[in-house]
Amino acid sequence: MTLLKKWTLLTLLLTFAFPYHAFAYKIVLDAGHGGSDPGAIGVGGLRETDVNLDITMKVKQALLERGYDVVMTRTTDTFWSLAERVAFTNEQKADLFVSIHANAHANSNVNGSMVLYYDNNYPQEDYPASSTMSQLTPYSKDLAGHVQDALVASAGTKDLGLTPSAVYVARMGIIPSILVETGFLTNKSDAALLNSDAARSKIALGIANGISAYEPPLFTDVLVHWSRPAVLRMKNKGIIEGIGNNYEPDRALTRAEFLTLMDRVFTFSKLPTVCEAKSSVTSSVYGCNAGTSYSDLPASHWASAVFAKASKLNLLQGYEDGTIRPNRAITRGEVADLFNRLLQMTSAGAPAVYQPYFDDVPKSLWSALAITNLKEKGIINGVTDTSFKPNQTMTRAEIAALLDRYFK
Ligand SMILES: [Zn+2]
Repeated sequence: MTLLKKWTLLTLLLTFAFPYHAFAYKIVLDAGHGGSDPGAIGVGGLRETDVNLDITMKVKQALLERGYDVVMTRTTDTFWSLAERVAFTNEQKADLFVSIHANAHANSNVNGSMVLYYDNNYPQEDYPASSTMSQLTPYSKDLAGHVQDALVASAGTKDLGLTPSAVYVARMGIIPSILVETGFLTNKSDAALLNSDAARSKIALGIANGISAYEPPLFTDVLVHWSRPAVLRMKNKGIIEGIGNNYEPDRALTRAEFLTLMDRVFTFSKLPTVCEAKSSVTSSVYGCNAGTSYSDLPASHWASAVFAKASKLNLLQGYEDGTIRPNRAITRGEVADLFNRLLQMTSAGAPAVYQPYFDDVPKSLWSALAITNLKEKGIINGVTDTSFKPNQTMTRAEIAALLDRYFK
């Protein structure tokens, strides 16, 4: 094939393989044992820790070549506790976790490959899973199946199937997780494979193929979150976006993020501007105060354009110190006020009459009418039946639910 043809084909393949993802899925690879814990010792003194690390490095290389984002727990022959491995993984905001081991058995005739995962249908009372992992069984099992099939196809090992298991690293995390038992160090033919560089490469290729065959669902960190239906509906409408394949549902929504969402919902450029008449300045200004620019909102800020649009609608006031604080968390009262003002600009209707729905929203509160109006329209709820907490920040999950109610 000519270079040009190869290049065209590669481009086509990539286009079809990754049509919607501008980001790389992130994978945590974990080489079992290490340091003071060599793992199983097999035929001829073959150490599990060494076999695991070499195969894991080969899996990493194969995945990097395919464009994945890959991180490893240990990368040398050092000791990591099981809790350290899970804690490290939980910090990575990754899409899946794969631990790589080799097996041992008192009966040297036992051989083959298997993949372990936590199965909520077979709980072990003494070894409870994390609450998230107990709900991730379908995803972990799907990943396990793909890796098992691809592993035995590539390595030619005996297929021992999937094994529900309460091993620590497969049950205590917060993302789909599996543990691969590549073969038995205590079996002569398996040990020969595990001691061969060529066979280790085939084993690693199989594991990488299985990972590639598994398609992580959208937004790994809301797989079992209460907001998932609303988040997916708002994503499908083109209103919300994630950060890579995460949504960060429990993080506070920033002012810049909220304005961006409001622009997508209400299309600021189509609303009547209220500031231009007052302003004779044609350069970029923020707020109705002509000529004002904010010290913390350089033109290079990702949201500077939406702040400029919002300023023509007089949506946000700056602070006395000359800042607009785009990265500050927005409060529930501010959300209600801004959302209600945009509703009034886009739809006719009688102004709300204050109702004492919440103990902490007295008539004198500046956002009381907005909260009353959105409550009556079924768009916003309290934190409880009697409490609204107007000064509390709003999470990204809460705004997805609010917008979902609005579009209903
Ligand atoms: Zn092991």
